[in-house]
Amino acid sequence: MKRPIAKLKKGKPLVVKAKTRVRAARKPRLKPGDLNSYALEVFSRLKRAYPDAHTELDHETPLQLLIATILSAQCTDKRVNMVTPLVFRTYPTAQSLADADPEVLEEMIRSTGFFRNKTKSLIALGKALVERHQGEVPDSMDLLVKLPGVGRKTANVILGNAFGKNEGVVVDTHVGRLSVRLGLTKQTDPVKVEQDLMKLFPRDDWAMLAHLLIFHGRRVCFAKSPQCAICTLNDICPSSSV
Ligand code: SF4
Repeated sequence: MKRPIAKLKKGKPLVVKAKTRVRAARKPRLKPGDLNSYALEVFSRLKRAYPDAHTELDHETPLQLLIATILSAQCTDKRVNMVTPLVFRTYPTAQSLADADPEVLEEMIRSTGFFRNKTKSLIALGKALVERHQGEVPDSMDLLVKLPGVGRKTANVILGNAFGKNEGVVVDTHVGRLSVRLGLTKQTDPVKVEQDLMKLFPRDDWAMLAHLLIFHGRRVCFAKSPQCAICTLNDICPSSSV
């Protein structure tokens, strides 16, 4: 069958309108070998954005940081920092924590939520530190994770911030969320996320990496509404909406 031929009007050029299809710009896909250099680029940009990134839990000693970290479960650092000055003054040592009156401690930390469980953990922690470590906080992962109320995440916080040791990466809710959004891992289990991050970043950067991701998660890459338009990573992040 013959195709119909477009009729030309006198003196008018034939204009053929091409069907235009607008495609959303795609971020270049990362090849496996590129992931390490991408990860380092993410790190250096975040470091530039937050040169003073640090733990936002106020503390002066390893014991204080341990107490504050336990209190920070399901609670903001700001709220914890409002409660801890009185807790630290009342229970300056592991022994005083071991001897704490549960009702008094519960009242003191009530506003941080889950205060009954946290009170039990803190008193058990004080007792374990006195019985096993002469009242001192140990500086090894193996010993820390055996303490009541202390998991791998809390142990990493203590090792990285109180002892300057990089034995792992703190994977909290922000680090987990951003790691997935940034394409640094496909895992959601914190232990597996941590393993992926440890492979991608130099050991010396592990503590700082967590600070940077937490800072960015609290200031720009929010859980519900990430602010991609103002994000320093928006031209390389595979989840960017701009
Ligand atoms: S571009 Fe968007 S999704 Fe990616 S890190 Fe930035 S704020 Fe988060």
